[in-house]
This record gives sequence, C-alpha cells and structure tokens, in this order.
Amino acid sequence: MSDKRANHDEKMQRKKAVKDAQIDAADQSKGLLVVLTGNGKGKSSSAFGMVLRALGHGQKAAVCQFIKGQQATGEVIYLQHHHPDLPYVAMATGFTWDTQNWEADRAAAEETWEKAKPWLVDPAIEVILLDELTYMFKFEYLDKTEVLAAIANRPPHQHVIVTGRGASPDLIDLADTVSEVRVNKHAFKQGIKAQPGIDF
Ligand code: ATP
Ligand code: MG
Repeated sequence: MSDKRANHDEKMQRKKAVKDAQIDAADQSKGLLVVLTGNGKGKSSSAFGMVLRALGHGQKAAVCQFIKGQQATGEVIYLQHHHPDLPYVAMATGFTWDTQNWEADRAAAEETWEKAKPWLVDPAIEVILLDELTYMFKFEYLDKTEVLAAIANRPPHQHVIVTGRGASPDLIDLADTVSEVRVNKHAFKQGIKAQPGIDF
C-alpha cells in the first residue's frame, strides 16, 4: 500500500473515533425548531423533504403555507394525492407583490395562523412545517411575540420547521438548527423560467 493510502486510512480511522465519540455524546432527544433562511434556493424543498422523512417513519405531520404561489407546488400536489388526511392550510392570497393590499393580506395571514395554531398544542402532531413564516413577521401581518411564544411552548417532542428569507434574530435564538442558504447562482438570472419538479 502506498504511503498516501496508508496515511488516508489512518486519518479516517482517527476521524471515525472522533465522530463515534460525538455520536455517543449526543444522547438527548427533543422536538427541534429548524429554521431554513437566506436568499438561495432550497429552503421550502428541504423542509418538504423533512415532512416526507417524517411520513416515511410513520409520524404525523402538518403543513401550513403562509405564501402560496399561483402555481401549486409538486410537493403539495403529491401530499394531497397520497396523504389526503395530512392537515394542510395555505394562505389564500398569492405573493405579496401581487395583492398590494396590506389589510387584506394581514387578515388572510391571521386566518391562516388561527388554523395552524391548534397544531402547536397537539402532541399527536410530530412535525409541523410553517413555510414562509418569516415574511409574516417582516410585513407585520402576524404578532411575532405571540407566534414565537406558541412555538416555544409547544409539546416537548414536536418538531417545527420554519422557512423564509430574513429570519429575525429572536427566531434564530429560539431555533435549535439554523441553515442559511446562500445564492451562488440561480438559473432565473440567466433568463430561465421556473421549471416544474425543480422550482415548484
Ligand atoms: P424552493 O421552494 O425551490 O426550495 P426556496 O423556498 O428556497 O425555494 P423561495 O424564496 O420560497 O425559495 O422561492 C421559491 C421559488 O423562487 C422557487 O421557484 C425558487 O427556485 C425561486 N427562487 C429561490 N431563490 C431564488 C433566487 N435567489 N433567485 C431567483 N429565484 C429564486
Ligand atoms: Mg420557499
């Protein structure tokens, strides 16, 4: 075996020992608040990926979409077809720049939140997705203090996933796992329209 190969194998062995120790040390279990933020593509699709994971494990999940595009996304079509019992609510309005009516948007946001709120006191629901929630705070459609308190006081083993750009510091503080997706490139900038299966 070459020196390089032997070195590699030794290094991997050491790495494995460190990783195994870390895995042994992480022995707690709790409901997580996961926040996916940043300007890059991949936040909602990642969040729906976790919903799918949960369903795969036989867990009960619920989905709330605070901003719904004109076009139904593939995940929602799929879930409605294959998991018709999955609790799902979506804000009736489209993108904020389409509606241009703060009062109507605020009322729609409030109505949507009222439907999702009971999930946060229901221990039978193991995973809740609050998609695009960050904008509800940014545009002051929802009372952030109230929503964050509801998330903080949820059943201890319930996971919550929040997506949207510009997550505020208090939301980030409350979270257990936070990922910020950064833009490197996006096809739209090169004049390519949203592609089904990838973009929606
Ligand atoms: P996805 O739903 O694909 O995971 P996302 O949730 O990270 O994306 P959103 O801001 O919710 O991003 O926007 C959803 C739509 O906008 C998708 O079609 C996505 O490809 C597109 N999009 C996301 N980020 C960008 C960007 N930086 N430039 C242009 N389009 C974007
Ligand atoms: Mg999104």
